[in-house]
Amino acid sequence: MSNFESLGLSDKLLRAIKNEGYESPTPVQALAIPLLLKGRDVLGVAQTGTGKTAAFALPILQKLLDKKPSQNRNIRALVLSPTRELAAQIDERFSVYSQYIDMRHKVIFGGVSQKPQVQSLRRGIDVLVATPGRLLDLIQQGHVDLGHVEFFVLDEADRMLDMGFIRDIKKVLKLLPRQRQNLLFSATMPSSIANLANSFLKNAEMIDLSPKEITVDRIEQAILFVRKEDKRKLIVDLIKENEVKRGIIFTRTKHGANKLVKQLDKAHIGALAIHGNKSQGARTKALAQFKNGSTPLLVATDIASRGIDVEDVTHVFNYDLPNEPESYVHRIGRTARAGKSGIAYGFCDDSESGYLVGIQRLIGKSIPVIDDHPYHFAKAIPKPNQKPGKIKVSKKSHDSKQNTNQSNNRHRSRRSGKNNNNNNNKR
Ligand code: AMP
Repeated sequence: MSNFESLGLSDKLLRAIKNEGYESPTPVQALAIPLLLKGRDVLGVAQTGTGKTAAFALPILQKLLDKKPSQNRNIRALVLSPTRELAAQIDERFSVYSQYIDMRHKVIFGGVSQKPQVQSLRRGIDVLVATPGRLLDLIQQGHVDLGHVEFFVLDEADRMLDMGFIRDIKKVLKLLPRQRQNLLFSATMPSSIANLANSFLKNAEMIDLSPKEITVDRIEQAILFVRKEDKRKLIVDLIKENEVKRGIIFTRTKHGANKLVKQLDKAHIGALAIHGNKSQGARTKALAQFKNGSTPLLVATDIASRGIDVEDVTHVFNYDLPNEPESYVHRIGRTARAGKSGIAYGFCDDSESGYLVGIQRLIGKSIPVIDDHPYHFAKAIPKPNQKPGKIKVSKKSHDSKQNTNQSNNRHRSRRSGKNNNNNNNKR
């Protein structure tokens, strides 16, 4: 097993890492750090939670240290991130890793006043972490000069494309000097990302740590089949039974997230919503309360949850199954970080069985089923040969005798002593 000392990082960076309690590099760090120190472009397939921020932040800081900054303190490293939360977290990691060196970094994103951001830019910074929209705004106003960038990082590239940032990314790329080192990280590698990577990476080394091998296997998972209208009661039961101290609940829509927060409140369960319609202030506050433990649950939509990096998340609830199988992997990756254990529950109603098929196909295994709960709804179980994706629920599809394809997977849950109202549907 490699250690940080053998990677070629300076003592001051090693001291910062040690302070953080990191004992050995994660796989993505062990692979990426030496390549980046050698000056190679890197294409990394890895998601948040794998330690990828340090995988690029540490070698960038090292290489910046090796060269003296110019007198004007130009921006020498640019990290583009899709969401404000993620950008803020990356910047916070730069603070941690650069605590013993003279390196200025700054995060800029929209939704907040640009004044302090402009002031920092005027004073001069070495590392800029930014979301694309605000970056382009500030460039247009003449506050940002990318003409001295030596390192360009495109983080969470798949999410960038999902969020429609491709044109912004291309605009930024045009403003960068030709001579530079590039890094692209993405949790998945569809052809759109491969094409984007080809358009600006040079002779890149690929590091593939796709979630199948690293995250999913560490996380205990369970599926509960349930009627849509019973999900609320089921989640209240599960949260109370599990005495959840720190959990994230995923809903498909912002409206659904708000509604669920209200319903949980009625059941005396503390939860806050985090999604794109919330102001930056509300999002930051929700995240802070979640981090300090005063609010045990966050109810999030996919985009807002991206990059929520909070230690010790013990439970993830897929209140609605995501329609993109990759999102499932991102979501459950919020728990069981850095070797800790966690459990991910998925609720599947009869309109979501196709999504479950797609998810199981992606992760390459069937998820164990908990069926001894009062709201078990066998009609939601995927039919044999069901195709991945959304299915239209017709009257005919409510055939309760369906579904034996999951029989090998059932496991007795930790739940007991509950009446099953759905005995007709139980085998
Ligand atoms: P990231 O994938 O960059 O979002 O990192 C996920 C979490 O893992 C963060 O809380 C990091 O502080 C932590 N982390 C990163 N590298 C290591 C390491 N080598 N050992 C232990 N924890 C780490």
